[in-house]
Amino acid sequence: MKQTEVAIVGAGPAGVFAALFLAKYGINCILIDKQKFPRDKICGDGISGWVLTVLNELDKELLAKLTRQDFLAHSHGMRVVAPNSSILDLPFMDDNSFAKGTPPGFICRRMDFDNFMMEEARKHPEIEILEETEITEYNKGKKGIFLNSKNGEVQISAKLVIFANGVTSKFMKEPGGIQKDKKYTMTGIRAYYKGISDCHPQNYVELHFLKDFLPGYFWVFPLPNGEANVGVGLDRHRIGKKKINLKKAMFEAIETNPYLKERFKNAEMIDSVKAYQLPLWDGRRKLSGERFMLAGDAGSLVDPVTGEGIGHAAITGMLAAKQAKRCLEDNNFSSESMNQYDDSFYKKIGKELDISIKIPQFIKHGWLFNMVVNRASKSKILKEKLTLAMTDLEVRKGLKNPMLYLKIMLGM
Ligand SMILES: Cc1cc2nc3c(=O)[nH]c(=O)nc-3n(C[C@H](O)[C@H](O)[C@H](O)COP(=O)(O)OP(=O)(O)OC[C@H]3O[C@@H](n4cnc5c(N)ncnc54)[C@H](O)[C@@H]3O)c2cc1C
Repeated sequence: MKQTEVAIVGAGPAGVFAALFLAKYGINCILIDKQKFPRDKICGDGISGWVLTVLNELDKELLAKLTRQDFLAHSHGMRVVAPNSSILDLPFMDDNSFAKGTPPGFICRRMDFDNFMMEEARKHPEIEILEETEITEYNKGKKGIFLNSKNGEVQISAKLVIFANGVTSKFMKEPGGIQKDKKYTMTGIRAYYKGISDCHPQNYVELHFLKDFLPGYFWVFPLPNGEANVGVGLDRHRIGKKKINLKKAMFEAIETNPYLKERFKNAEMIDSVKAYQLPLWDGRRKLSGERFMLAGDAGSLVDPVTGEGIGHAAITGMLAAKQAKRCLEDNNFSSESMNQYDDSFYKKIGKELDISIKIPQFIKHGWLFNMVVNRASKSKILKEKLTLAMTDLEVRKGLKNPMLYLKIMLGM
């Protein structure tokens, strides 16, 4: 039986960031993944400022090294396309706290990003990595936890465990206690293309809010070498209710929407279409218990509006490592002491996610969306407000206030 201070199940962004922060604190851990890296993860590949913030705290040089990789497209903004094809370009705010030359966001295949982070983890003697090891059993004892792998070959004993094994995690339900509702699970499909014309010169991520997918969206996220990640995401409740075949609907959109049709005229799909689930945040609940914490998708932390989950995985990985450090210092692994992890998460992003839950109620109305985009593309003040809403919690709160839309309608 292997023994360690902290066991981390899953080596995606949540798990690898937890391991790297533990290594920074000099704490030994075992990082376990059922796959062998490099491995793919179906995703939009849009990596937001949250990841840069966490990397900046972890290791500024690592952030600078990542920024220089040629597998990244530096992204400087977001292009929102309304159902009536009106376009609104919103630049991302540059965060001056990062080193010069660091973009506000970037896009890169998860195959490359996750492997870059895993290679970094391999350099730290505090981190023991076990690949091709699927954890299927979890048991709690008086002095620690025990994990068993699928084939029974690997047994691990640890003082605490961080479950970071994504949306399919069975530990989300037990011991996590999270029951998922179809309304708060999104299905996303992804395909890689090359040759899409007219992408923004500064690699703006494109969110196309098409009538048939509302409040979900069709995306085009530009990658290096003229390639792009293209996909569609919608909640499973609406997919079931409207009997939507996402793959068929995506191809139909490309063939019939006049704006997309023109831009995909010479484009070619360079990979097959693949689908995966996004577990959406559905309101505050506990993410921990005695001797365990849930991080990233295993805690169902994806933003219900944007589909962003990598940044939240990185943040919870970091916060889980900080909590593990406190537990080990105090020799206290009780459920009550874990509340600090929950509180720190909620303070950092939970509040923001609570606001996002309400926003699809407005987005689902195509006419309202058209009107906001039309007005914002002509109004400097409104455009600035929406730009700020991407980063400022107080401004974002305003987006769920119906008065805002009434004011926009009246041109106030
Ligand atoms: C179609 C789609 C598009 C998306 N687009 C974006 C986007 O553009 N931007 C964004 O920020 N987010 C996006 N997301 C969400 C994002 O992909 C996730 O939120 C993110 O990957 C969560 O990271 P994680 O570390 O929690 O889990 P994961 O990245 O899923 O990693 C979990 C790891 O655990 C391993 N594992 C699973 N079970 C076990 C087990 N039993 N034992 C051992 N190992 C195990 C897996 O092999 C995997 O490596 C998208 C998701 C989808 C499906």
